[in-house]
Amino acid sequence: MSFACLSYRSSRWLVGVSAMLALPAAMANERVQVVTSFSILADMVENVGGEHVEVTSLVAADGDAHVYSPSPGDARSLANADLVVFNGLLFEGWMERLISASDYSGALVTATDGIEALSFAEHEDHNEHGHEDHDEHAHEEHGHDDHEAHEEHAGHEHGNQDPHAWQDMHQAEVYVANIRDGLIAADADNADAYRANAEQYLHEMAEVDAEIRTLINEIPASTSVITGHDSFGYFSSAYGVHFLSPVGLSTEADPSGASMAALVDVIEQENVKALFHENMTNQSIITQLAEETGLPIAGTLYADALAAEGEASTYLGMMRHNAHVLNDALAEPGHDEHGHDDHEQVHEDHDHSEHSHSH
Ligand SMILES: [Zn+2]
Repeated sequence: MSFACLSYRSSRWLVGVSAMLALPAAMANERVQVVTSFSILADMVENVGGEHVEVTSLVAADGDAHVYSPSPGDARSLANADLVVFNGLLFEGWMERLISASDYSGALVTATDGIEALSFAEHEDHNEHGHEDHDEHAHEEHGHDDHEAHEEHAGHEHGNQDPHAWQDMHQAEVYVANIRDGLIAADADNADAYRANAEQYLHEMAEVDAEIRTLINEIPASTSVITGHDSFGYFSSAYGVHFLSPVGLSTEADPSGASMAALVDVIEQENVKALFHENMTNQSIITQLAEETGLPIAGTLYADALAAEGEASTYLGMMRHNAHVLNDALAEPGHDEHGHDDHEQVHEDHDHSEHSHSH
């Protein structure tokens, strides 16, 4: 918030003064202090906030937000924040615990508020039971106030809903709107700038979305790939390509020998064309699968974190990078007859399967 405008913001001014007296270091900083749980949100906030914000991401680039343990420094960052942004849908349960354990009472944004959440059950079915009955797309219309309803098992926790919604750019538009509204709530003086920045960013997102559709439409609709964990459900739903993973729901769990054997079976049944590393999960599982199946490892996809530098160090860059890597590995020229638009699930078309598995 701008301290130049303190004179007519009396109630917040008093709160701000007491905070500054307690924390003199904050006095020099006039930009809105925003704390995000992970790097993708940090980049979105920087785009919408521009020069008016200073953003701290608790989980850094290439970090795994599923299994993060907050530090005392993170609690201090939270204490100094004007706005806190996290994903929700139990992507980062530690963040919700950190917020409730702190005295933080400022503006709070749950980036997934208002999205059309996908169910996780669909992905589990893919891994365990094949996928004969996936005609019904699992766009559920649940409210978003049921964050408490989650299961806990096998050492990790997850909700029934897939939290990785940023992998669909239409869902990410909701993230951007929520971030814009959160910034306005924390710093109304710069509302016009936040609205203009968000509009510009949404325009860029629409361009990248179209680019992704063009690239993925060149990939046969029957194509399956394997990645490190189940983070591409929204990408698959929005753009195409069937994603399987050795780790069911969380990066925390290691696949047992039994599930690895089951996955090898699935690879033989499905039209799996390639394996991909993820930037923030353990690469040894994918490497092991490549050895057992003879399938190629066709590149690295950015799943739950940005790259520290380079093309994938921004959200738009990472989405573009993923589409190019998939296209490079899987595209077959002339294969653009499949409609991928409007959130239609692209189903496996077994008539198109080439059954050319190599072992
Ligand atoms: Zn994930």
